[in-house]
Amino acid sequence: MISFDDYIEKFDKLVQKYIPPKKDWTPPDQAVYGPKDPFRVPIKEGKELQFNAIKYQFKNHYENNNMYNSFCKQMNITPSDIKTYDDIEKIPLIPGEFYKDYPHGRDFAMWLANIFTGHIPQVKISGKNPNFDDIINSFNASGFVVAYSSGTSGRHTFIPRDSRTFNISEYAIAKNSITMAYPVYDYSMKGYLLMPNPFKTNVFAGKVCTIFFNAVSEVKSAIDREINTELIKLSMTGSGSFKAKMIQKVIAKMNKKIVNDIIKWLEKNEKEKNKIVFAGAPFILYAVTKKLIEQGKSFDFSDRAAILTGGGWKIEENHRMPLEDFRKRMQEVLGINTEYCLDLYGMVEGNGWMVQCQEGHYLHIPYTYYHPMILDENSKPLEYGKWGRFAFLDGSTFSYPGFIISGDKSRMLEHCPVCDRPGPVLEPEVTRISGKEMRGCAEELRRMISMDTGDD
Ligand SMILES: [Zn+2]
Repeated sequence: MISFDDYIEKFDKLVQKYIPPKKDWTPPDQAVYGPKDPFRVPIKEGKELQFNAIKYQFKNHYENNNMYNSFCKQMNITPSDIKTYDDIEKIPLIPGEFYKDYPHGRDFAMWLANIFTGHIPQVKISGKNPNFDDIINSFNASGFVVAYSSGTSGRHTFIPRDSRTFNISEYAIAKNSITMAYPVYDYSMKGYLLMPNPFKTNVFAGKVCTIFFNAVSEVKSAIDREINTELIKLSMTGSGSFKAKMIQKVIAKMNKKIVNDIIKWLEKNEKEKNKIVFAGAPFILYAVTKKLIEQGKSFDFSDRAAILTGGGWKIEENHRMPLEDFRKRMQEVLGINTEYCLDLYGMVEGNGWMVQCQEGHYLHIPYTYYHPMILDENSKPLEYGKWGRFAFLDGSTFSYPGFIISGDKSRMLEHCPVCDRPGPVLEPEVTRISGKEMRGCAEELRRMISMDTGDD
């Protein structure tokens, strides 16, 4: 079996373009790119890396982001107040709703520019009445990676990343997943992306999977057409316009095609004895296995396959599937080992990709650059073991303040109850704070392609 160090070195070579030259590393780069296994850094060393990264970014946003600067002044906190590790929880947190509170039209471009930290490159926006997609594409043509999530209620979360911050997100999602999947991953794997094609969308959950194309030898995307805010709006609202009906028709056709394509793909790879990896929304695999069960078919990929899921566990309308049942089902129908069926938790607002361990399926936190917190109703941090609202200080975002209160509910434990990795974990399943809209990139996608689970 390949040693862990060789395993990660091989991966790092494949994704060189996401890693800045070592001579240019700042504390945030050191914290993300430095550790070989982000989940096994000794706590003392991990806290030091985390503190240096967060302190660096707090100073950066305080000095280079007018909006955040006035917010901090209101809260009476300056970078000189952050002297030791215990001070970092004083850093002012931004409610996630803030990144959803945007105007339309040309004002949207101004809004994006305002939440950006640092110098804004020249962005040319043509047309009298540009829509969201026009504006985002203009920003992205100027070197930004503006991406968005959610939208189930018609409201997206827009986050402006510069290429450096986006590369960190890409690198971290792949590295954290591959680390936990050790030793099953290798470059020869054939990948199936259960998300929109990253090259044809600005939906963050799709876009952040670009690195998948560098990490494995071949990738197919479930959704290969362009996905933009306009299409999401039309498919969500179900409005009766001719255009909306057309789109829904195309989508219905696409659903059946995805399920059939995946089954054909599985057959081909079984015949050729290839290693495979699925990455993305679990409901699509649920639909695939549903059809396979109906047809009385099954596969045996055993220890030459992995599944990395993310984005939410609403499998069908009104049906949330327990993760354990999902893993069992994947084993029964696809023959994929439950240890290699791992869920990820992360969000468009940050680069802190948390991944389940094989041993206990708890969500491990990449604590070398990311400080997790569970807050009470008054936004005060709670001790370990208590349920509350998830919040974080992300020391890896250069282009916007990644100090955020999420709308998700979880419980944090100081150590994993099952494995021996030293850092904190979240409960395997994260849910929305009740009363909030249903969110999650998989839910967005599920509603959009309204998967009738491939019947007939
Ligand atoms: Zn664990």
